[in-house]
Amino acid sequence: MANNTITLPSYTLTPRPTLIPGVSDPLLQLLAPVVAYWVFSLFFHVLDTYDWCTEYRLHTPAELLKRNHVTRYEVVRDVVVQQIIQTAFGLFLAHFDPVETVGREDYDVAVWAQRLRLAQSYIPSALALLGVDALALSNKVAEYPQFASVLAGGIYPTPTAAAPWESFVAKAIYWVAIPFVQFFVAILLVDTWQYFLHRAMHMNKFLYTTLHSRHHRLYVPYAFGALYNHPVEGFMLDTFGTGLAYLLTGMTVRQGMWFFTCSTIKTVDDHCGYAFPWDPVQHITSNNAAYHDIHHQSWGIKTNFSQPFFTFWDKFLNTAWTGGDVSSRYQRDRISAQKKVDAGTTPQQPSVVNSPEIDVDKAKQQALSSQRQVLDDSVNGGVRILEEEAREEQSVKTSTRRSTRRRTSGFDPKALSDRVAGSLHGRSHAILHADGAH
Ligand SMILES: [Zn+2]
Ligand SMILES: [Zn+2]
Repeated sequence: MANNTITLPSYTLTPRPTLIPGVSDPLLQLLAPVVAYWVFSLFFHVLDTYDWCTEYRLHTPAELLKRNHVTRYEVVRDVVVQQIIQTAFGLFLAHFDPVETVGREDYDVAVWAQRLRLAQSYIPSALALLGVDALALSNKVAEYPQFASVLAGGIYPTPTAAAPWESFVAKAIYWVAIPFVQFFVAILLVDTWQYFLHRAMHMNKFLYTTLHSRHHRLYVPYAFGALYNHPVEGFMLDTFGTGLAYLLTGMTVRQGMWFFTCSTIKTVDDHCGYAFPWDPVQHITSNNAAYHDIHHQSWGIKTNFSQPFFTFWDKFLNTAWTGGDVSSRYQRDRISAQKKVDAGTTPQQPSVVNSPEIDVDKAKQQALSSQRQVLDDSVNGGVRILEEEAREEQSVKTSTRRSTRRRTSGFDPKALSDRVAGSLHGRSHAILHADGAH
């Protein structure tokens, strides 16, 4: 057995050539997410500015103008400050990193082939436990030489070289499976870090009013507001959270470049203000713009803490919004007016309101506790927010009554209602009247 080992190739390490000439990879790793942030934001900003895709908007342009408590200038300024802090911190850390080298790849692949060979050596004894004679079986399948060699315990004509299948699987492990696991674990780490920190910021009044309430000045989120945070929060939540995941999963600089850029794009998309049927980023997981938008509403602020990738922590720990169709909360008068027009009558529909799928009491409690948080925050929240929302709803109601014959804009509350509800697992026609505040 001693000579049945694949020989490992020798290798020479050389510094990894940079992806873009003249820009070091560690610097590119820090710049790529910043560039991605503004390019993607610009795309959504163009949609906003030219009124394109209005049918997919989560909020009306009027809401965008009236309901936010921070100017676009302040948002851009604070995001730039955060990105400067993030880049400076990254450069500081990169200073201590050794220079990345290449040249070892074939050696590492051969190590995996060696491990496969070792694993095969246990096959005859494992089959013997099941009462199967591995060698006899191996002789029977002699017309498939690679399979026969596996059954024989990894005995090959040229024992020191990897068989074709061994080298294929070893390459797949090294180049595909391990990076996939690294990305997946990093995503779980970031989701876990952000969920608990984000949740703590909503549970602790000091943390909320001092740090996190700044992000919640955006009741109508837009793309480039995604990283609008208090600098301390931005550092703890995003910079430190993703940095830790990067270090713990042992990613290379280039893997980190992809990971940071993908995380940034996901965060921008979660705040973009559009629920697109064709945006892959919004359908890979159930966490998307419609889901996170609930968290930005005064009645949903104490729900849907999960970000940026998956929603499993909200589900495990019962913090997901449970009130069913949420769009009805800010559009319910509009929808109900439209329904009356469509139906021609005004029948009561208690079966929908009391649908057993919806936990009315929990939803009521979620909405009340959310509104309490808004009231508790005297600087960025307060009673004026709830008053403004009531006024906004009233004006929507009035304008809807005025235009009952035809819809004047591309904004379709029914379609919006279906899409948002769709992201909450198909409760597409449930309309909840349970906020208790009006
Ligand atoms: Zn929050
Ligand atoms: Zn947000």
